[in-house]
Amino acid sequence: MNGIFERKTYFGMAVDPIHVGTGGYTLGRVDNPILRDFDGIPKIPGTSIEGTARTYAYFQGAGKNQACAKGKKTKETQPCGNCSLCISFGYATDDHSKQGMAIFSDAKILLFPVASLVGPVWVTSPNKLKELNIPQEATGQNLESEKAILSTHLKQKLEKTGYINFGWLLLQVESTPHNLSADKTLEGGISFKQRGFDKQEIFDRLVIVSDAVLHQIVNSNLEVRTSVSINPETGAAEEGALFTYEAIPRGTILYFTMTYQNPKCFDIESTDLNKVISTVESSFELFEFLGVGGMGTRGFGKLKVVGLDKKYDPITMAQIRANNLREQIKEIDEKLKTAPLVEHAKLQQEKAKKLQLIKESAEEHAKISEIYKSISEKK
Ligand SMILES: [Zn+2]
Repeated sequence: MNGIFERKTYFGMAVDPIHVGTGGYTLGRVDNPILRDFDGIPKIPGTSIEGTARTYAYFQGAGKNQACAKGKKTKETQPCGNCSLCISFGYATDDHSKQGMAIFSDAKILLFPVASLVGPVWVTSPNKLKELNIPQEATGQNLESEKAILSTHLKQKLEKTGYINFGWLLLQVESTPHNLSADKTLEGGISFKQRGFDKQEIFDRLVIVSDAVLHQIVNSNLEVRTSVSINPETGAAEEGALFTYEAIPRGTILYFTMTYQNPKCFDIESTDLNKVISTVESSFELFEFLGVGGMGTRGFGKLKVVGLDKKYDPITMAQIRANNLREQIKEIDEKLKTAPLVEHAKLQQEKAKKLQLIKESAEEHAKISEIYKSISEKK
């Protein structure tokens, strides 16, 4: 791969409740609300994911020393500045600092599990689906807040009543079911399944509700637990230290997008784009076992990131890459509409470069295909 950057979306399932506090968790806090996005729906901030990923990538063998693991100097040593950990996540030494090649986004809730009379279902909303660039006809734009769009499977179960309930909330079933499935393609022609999210049983139990109703359902169905603070010195419960906390419940499906920049474009020779991607993805493998967010010692935060077994699937990677290039060309075309004339030549040049990359890749793959074809014909 020799593009400028790769953008890749990941899906994950909360295997445990996930708690990411607003102010960082401290023992003995009475109230621990969860961090929320601008739409009022909880999220895991990119900075939490990044910090956790850095540590786990180190556990997986990336990095030369403890300082590389932290990205800043320790008592004994400085970050090396050229291992895959320093390059992917960035670092600071006494005299200089560099930003990482891997850019992390917030992990947002895509599908939220909730109980109904027909058993557990997963809810989502038009805006959530739009954020993921699901083709618009599938997202239920303009859905009224009294109504819900069901899967064909759920619709058959609720044929007689015509309503679906979430706790006390009763919504009218829309006459047309949605067509979301594991095979549904996101923009760029990549399906959920190809990104490792292949649980068709979840899509069979998927309900689209309006954005306002999703907000309501999520916020009234978060895990809220009461716990007792333990005094770290005595090991005993602290008097009066009962506290409550919120968490994203088990079974929630989240997604986040990574942007991987190509070190070559930053004159870095020690690590290439593939190495950046594999360093970060190796860390995601441990999210399922070691968790993300606060209160890991209470068994919180385990997130199973899916699709990591498909990381070397060349067809999916080609689709991702081709789609990224198309997006970049679209962005340039947009800029060309408003950019001052003096910048046009430069933008046109950038665009020509991208078109050239697409052409070169196509030619390369045609050649590879020719080689296999000629072999198979010879038998
Ligand atoms: Zn290093």
